[in-house]
Amino acid sequence: MSLPSDFTTIKEARSKILSAIGDNVTLVAASKRQSEDRINAALATGQRVFGENRVQEAQKRWAPLKSQFEKLELRLIGPLQTNKAAEAIELFDVIETLDRPKLLSALIKALEKTERAPPDLLIQVNTGDERQKSGVSLAEFDDFLKLSRQDWPGKIAGLMCIPPASEPAAPHFAFLKRLADENNLPHISMGMSSDYALAAKLGASHVRVGTALFGARD
Ligand SMILES: *Cc1c(COP(=O)(O)O)cnc(C)c1O
Repeated sequence: MSLPSDFTTIKEARSKILSAIGDNVTLVAASKRQSEDRINAALATGQRVFGENRVQEAQKRWAPLKSQFEKLELRLIGPLQTNKAAEAIELFDVIETLDRPKLLSALIKALEKTERAPPDLLIQVNTGDERQKSGVSLAEFDDFLKLSRQDWPGKIAGLMCIPPASEPAAPHFAFLKRLADENNLPHISMGMSSDYALAAKLGASHVRVGTALFGARD
């Protein structure tokens, strides 16, 4: 019963987001902790690109759906522990949160044990140099990009950031865009519910939107 109302709400929200970001930016539906009904509603609107934060939650949800939707693209947008690398490789088309050599090694090892094509990787950059935050530090970025390009058999496709909550996002977005351009990295994942339009304006190729698309999380 809840599907039709979710469908209308999500369809309208999606149209609004799509028109704000324009044709050259991809909407990644951040589906963590959203109900099955809402996911189905999003799928019914034609949404095919989804971002998930946790490997296990994503597996449970998407493993059964993957064969049903041909163009589905699953992106890991949450931090990845090395002991989940193999599962992440099996499920995701893109991993946006590569941020340390140990994780790179774990992904390479996991890839060697599977037939699957290597997912594209994005490097998460800690643009605010925040202590507790995931993402490679600015000081280590150049070396880490070089290492990743050398060692990963697939593509290092771009960069991702989550600006500090306490600061205006625009300088972080502008910085990430410049860093990506300087290094010939086409994918720039930035912007969430509160600032996706700004991120698109400042050069995002992908915006990750959860609540503004689906409604509040559980
Ligand atoms: C949850 C999440 C989002 C989406 O957040 P909203 O504010 O609900 O749009 C985007 N990116 C990451 C990494 C997230 O964890």
